[in-house]
Amino acid sequence: MELQSLKKVGPKTIEYLNKLNIYCVEDLLDYYPYRYNIYKPVNLKDCDTLDTITINATIESTPKLAYIRRNLNRITFKALSNNLLINVSIFNRSFLNQHLDVGKNITLIGKYDEKKNNFVASDLKFGWINTIKIEPIYHIIKGLKNANMNMYILNALEQINNVNDFIPDYINNEYRFIDKLEALKIIHNPENSNDLKQARIKLIYEELFLFMLKINFLKIKNQKIDGLERKFDQDKVKNFIKSLPFSLTVDQMSAVNDCLNDLKSKKRMNRLIEGDVGSGKTIVATILMYANTISGYQSALMAPTEILATQHYESIKKIMEPFSVNVALLVGSMKKSEHKKIVDDLKNKKIDIIIGTHALISSDVEFNNLGLVITDEQHRFGVNQRSNLQNKGNMPDVIYMSATPIPRTYALTIYNDMDASIIKTKPNGRKEIKTFVKKESELKSVLNHILEEVKNGHQIYVVAPSIQENEEHNTWDVESLKKSFNQAFHDKVPTAILHGKIKSKEKEKIMNQFKTGEIKILIATTVIEVGVDVENATTIVIFNAENYGLATLHQLRGRVGRNNLDSYCFLISDKEVDRLKVLEDSNDGFYISEQDFLMRKGGDLFGTKQSGDMVFKIADLRRDFKILLQAKKDSEQFLNSKEIQDPKYQNILKSIANLD
Ligand code: ADP
Ligand code: MG
Repeated sequence: MELQSLKKVGPKTIEYLNKLNIYCVEDLLDYYPYRYNIYKPVNLKDCDTLDTITINATIESTPKLAYIRRNLNRITFKALSNNLLINVSIFNRSFLNQHLDVGKNITLIGKYDEKKNNFVASDLKFGWINTIKIEPIYHIIKGLKNANMNMYILNALEQINNVNDFIPDYINNEYRFIDKLEALKIIHNPENSNDLKQARIKLIYEELFLFMLKINFLKIKNQKIDGLERKFDQDKVKNFIKSLPFSLTVDQMSAVNDCLNDLKSKKRMNRLIEGDVGSGKTIVATILMYANTISGYQSALMAPTEILATQHYESIKKIMEPFSVNVALLVGSMKKSEHKKIVDDLKNKKIDIIIGTHALISSDVEFNNLGLVITDEQHRFGVNQRSNLQNKGNMPDVIYMSATPIPRTYALTIYNDMDASIIKTKPNGRKEIKTFVKKESELKSVLNHILEEVKNGHQIYVVAPSIQENEEHNTWDVESLKKSFNQAFHDKVPTAILHGKIKSKEKEKIMNQFKTGEIKILIATTVIEVGVDVENATTIVIFNAENYGLATLHQLRGRVGRNNLDSYCFLISDKEVDRLKVLEDSNDGFYISEQDFLMRKGGDLFGTKQSGDMVFKIADLRRDFKILLQAKKDSEQFLNSKEIQDPKYQNILKSIANLD
């Protein structure tokens, strides 16, 4: 169903929704809240806490608005809450003033100072809350409002009377799952936490069931297909390896050999190369693309960001030059004419190796004889993209590279359809990244360190969770940090910011200036710099480190320590310090991911953090691992059962057959 058909959704809103990858009503319904605010009104008389509380109140005096100084204003009024007359202050919400009339019922969320009889409200809602209110919170972008997002979805739910349920009936019955439509209604408008639990479990299971169904389907499909059985001069590959400026580590060599054997064998290669950050996966990919080239086929390397693709392109092109292998780049930001030329050259086999982003899987890209497909940072791609690239050309061999070292059982499940090579060791001469957890009050020492490193001619990464100052999350943002740094360093140290919303050409320019040292401090969000390689960067400072999983932090700090210089990581946080300390003590990605897995327990119902690994809408692989294992078993059973032939399961089959 089209978005146009929805009430109160105009062209402008559709534009915003599209930016969130919402293109139809089904997408909208699947746009689940990432957390909930819970409001439970209390009586101030029974309440002796300094925590944030919710109270019902009635406005008793005409509100006064005062501008205290730039960027600071306050509304004050008297209000009656359970027969207690209190003073209320609200900061920086001047826009509320015109809606606050004497006699109006409101709900206030904030902190109460009993001595001063003053309530400082951080949020205000109109009307009273009876017993409890659970408010869904969505990831939104500028231009959309959380409450409106919720309204569009609830309107859609009213206009719709059935939805696809991807769980087979017999499983729904066995686990007594609630109806899918019901679950959607609850997830977007829960009345109590019990209902919400039921709805979540249904939708989490559905997502994981479908995921495992796809993986198992791919596995069965792959086993049936013959791959390319190729011949190439092994000595040429040896010479290629000899020509590199360093010798391979034992693990790199063995991963290369695993893959070379796969290339030679008739079986179709479908292999995961799992290795910690900095373990040197790119060169392994490069060697295999060389072997594939001399066996007469084209190769494709797909990376999750343009920056990364461009970096790979530059380094691989240089290595390939003496061997007269043609390397090209294809990314989304290219001009139509450039794009077309590359597409033509690919078709005519003027290109041996193509490196790019998901632009590679756009439908107009055709290969002459694609023989090998490699995806870098695989955990950033969904399972659909996994199969799309596989299906280009004539059943090419496939290699996935992933830098998230995840516990073994976990890897075996989500990469169940693949063989695996693991790179455990890092190249010699690498020093450990010295890591320190610092409180915000200790920032000064971190700034001193930064200045010291800059004086020594090195560069610094700074990471913050959001782009702009934002009311909803009380966290550091890239733009304010740039201001603060410039102030602290008296504009003497060149800084730049980088995030997903900056245009690619501009991004590339900034990245280059950072590489060459023209820019000393790069302040970025996390999305941007996976896998980026700037050897001279020696320090990374991560603000609000508590926001991230340990594995993600470990991966982020892998941006430094790329050569034999001393390198440092500062995790700035006032919370969850014990958890973060794991990173002070260990530089072993596999150990860290185990700890991460153990520490992030289930039951985190109202505080689900977005996980950087894998792209799920509601499931969290760490938290929902048990459900994943069950879904794995159930999906295997379903694929092998007669039930699957039942016409009523057409929709389920269609969704996995999409993979073709
Ligand atoms: P990742 O596994 O995180 O993708 P990269 O492939 O980016 O790691 O490699 C990190 C750095 O290590 C690169 O600068 C690369 O040239 C270098 N490198 C890779 N293998 C070796 C090796 N065997 N000896 C020395 N340096 C190496
Ligand atoms: Mg890499």
